[in-house]
Amino acid sequence: MSTQTGHCLCGAVAYRGKGGLHMHVCHCSNCRRWTGSPAMTLTFDDGMDILTPDNVRWYGSSDWAERGSCATCGSTLFYRMPDSGYINVSAGSLDDQSAIDGIAEHIFVDEKPLHYDFAGEAPRITGAEVFERFTGPQDGQS
Ligand SMILES: [Zn+2]
Ligand SMILES: [Zn+2]
Repeated sequence: MSTQTGHCLCGAVAYRGKGGLHMHVCHCSNCRRWTGSPAMTLTFDDGMDILTPDNVRWYGSSDWAERGSCATCGSTLFYRMPDSGYINVSAGSLDDQSAIDGIAEHIFVDEKPLHYDFAGEAPRITGAEVFERFTGPQDGQS
């Protein structure tokens, strides 16, 4: 299995991703507030090990998800949903940037502000479509 390593700005938080990786861009307002911009994140086919868990500070940003940053330098790193086991990590923290072969998908495009646009033809889906993936169809919930 291929593995990839990454770390925060100061090096206090390190992780190892396992298996193939995929990059998503999230345009939701929470990601934009947390990172300052759309969030470019990575998921790994065989999961991820946080090698320095004591150095991560978690913030519950919704009823179903929490966001992990470095307790020392503040780098925005992890987004996880404990109930499902889903976790991703900020793409910029990966050590070997050449391992990322492009954007797989844009999500929460219905929350994207008008002042930027990404080039390319990667699929673009709404927040409702994202929630359906995790919970099945719902009636008007966001
Ligand atoms: Zn750090
Ligand atoms: Zn988001």
